[in-house]
Amino acid sequence: MAIKYFPEPFRIKSVEPLRMLTRAEREQKIKEANYNLFYLKGEDCYIDLLTDSGTNAMSQEQWAGVMKGDEAYAGASSYYKLVEAGRDIFNYEYIQPVHQGRAGEKVLFPLFLSKGKVAISNMFFDTTRAHVELAGARAIDCVIEDAKDPAKRVKFKGNMDVAKLEALIKEHGAENVGLVVMTVTNNSAGGQPVSIKNIRESAAVCKKYHIPFHIDAARYAENAFFIKRDEEEFKNTSIKDIIRETFKYAETFTMSAKKDAIVNMGGLIGVKDGNSDLVLKIKANCISFEGFFTYGGLAGRDLEALAIGLYEGIDESYLQYRNGQMEYLASRLDDAGIAYQAPIGGHGAFIDAKAMFPNIPYYEFPGQVLAIELYKEAGIRTCDIGSYMLGNDPDTKKQLKADFEFTRLAIPRRVYTQAHIDIMADALIEIKQNAHKITSGYKITWEPPILRHFQAHLEPVKK
Ligand SMILES: *Cc1c(COP(=O)(O)O)cnc(C)c1O
Repeated sequence: MAIKYFPEPFRIKSVEPLRMLTRAEREQKIKEANYNLFYLKGEDCYIDLLTDSGTNAMSQEQWAGVMKGDEAYAGASSYYKLVEAGRDIFNYEYIQPVHQGRAGEKVLFPLFLSKGKVAISNMFFDTTRAHVELAGARAIDCVIEDAKDPAKRVKFKGNMDVAKLEALIKEHGAENVGLVVMTVTNNSAGGQPVSIKNIRESAAVCKKYHIPFHIDAARYAENAFFIKRDEEEFKNTSIKDIIRETFKYAETFTMSAKKDAIVNMGGLIGVKDGNSDLVLKIKANCISFEGFFTYGGLAGRDLEALAIGLYEGIDESYLQYRNGQMEYLASRLDDAGIAYQAPIGGHGAFIDAKAMFPNIPYYEFPGQVLAIELYKEAGIRTCDIGSYMLGNDPDTKKQLKADFEFTRLAIPRRVYTQAHIDIMADALIEIKQNAHKITSGYKITWEPPILRHFQAHLEPVKK
């Protein structure tokens, strides 16, 4: 039996109409999109779960903030408001706005990484991996083995494998490890949380070898919620104090504010020590790439909405509702015997497409197959988080085999209702019942060299 849906701690004031195409129209649209869901028009998607990034609904306070945004080129009051909020929540001295997460990576990573260096993470997000490689370095994932078994229900499944981290540092030589990146929550492993214990242990290894420890903080608030729920030491600690504890162990962070800060555009870089040389270099790179350091590629109105969203995203009743939506969806999947990265993560369901289509090999992209079927079935747009997204080895150019073949249903914040969640579950159940009829996947007919999944063209494999 599905669990009870946790009621929304808000009501709806402004609405955006949705349109459902016919099945025949959807089949035509996805063909015209080269079987790549990134080429679909938003208006042709009934429920858009492509990403939870920048697709959030802002609050009345944030929209009021948009009107109050200070558009001064330098030293806008909205900038100071954002810096105050960032310092208060993360307890870092230097807060740098940027236009989104990858802009932060572009500004910061070349200051740590260059040719011959490696960066190690519990798991790199795709753009984060790309910026490691663009800086000339190589990216290595180091998640715990449990994360690779979608059926295995363990707490803090996004954790770093600390013993392996130390072994990798010894193998590559500490002087060649430019950065260790802790991604919270672990997006690519299914929005799985990382415990404070694991953060402490990973940071201790970095300290021992004098390697900078960095947080990729896109979903820091959802991670803090899981810590409060599942890590005994923190069950009576406030979300804000858990966040401060999380960030205490790192020296720097980059953050896509388009996730937990509940805005449509924005990002941050944080540096714990505001007097460091690093801050001067960040400011210089920011001025070249993003704009003057008091706006960092954002309009004053964006800075204002972000300053407000940072606090809304750490509100406990909001986080309970947010997690409640995931738990409700998970309970419906459990009832139907649909495999996903379990337990459910923080920002959506990562359906185990390999389990759904056991006969489709990784190089025919089972995660992409399920994403296409979901669009055909109910106009739901999702994406592959598997071999299709992972791409080719940068040295050998050969297709890599991912640890998972997931189809991600990323749930935007404060956007969809219980009825929408039911449509998602019903569509998956329908596809599962007919899954045996689908025995082949897709092949790539054109691809760019980096971040190919956004742009590649595909066609069905004929057998
Ligand atoms: C979204 C995301 C990024 C990149 O941020 P953008 O705002 O999309 O540029 C980096 N890391 C993680 C873990 C993310 O989820």
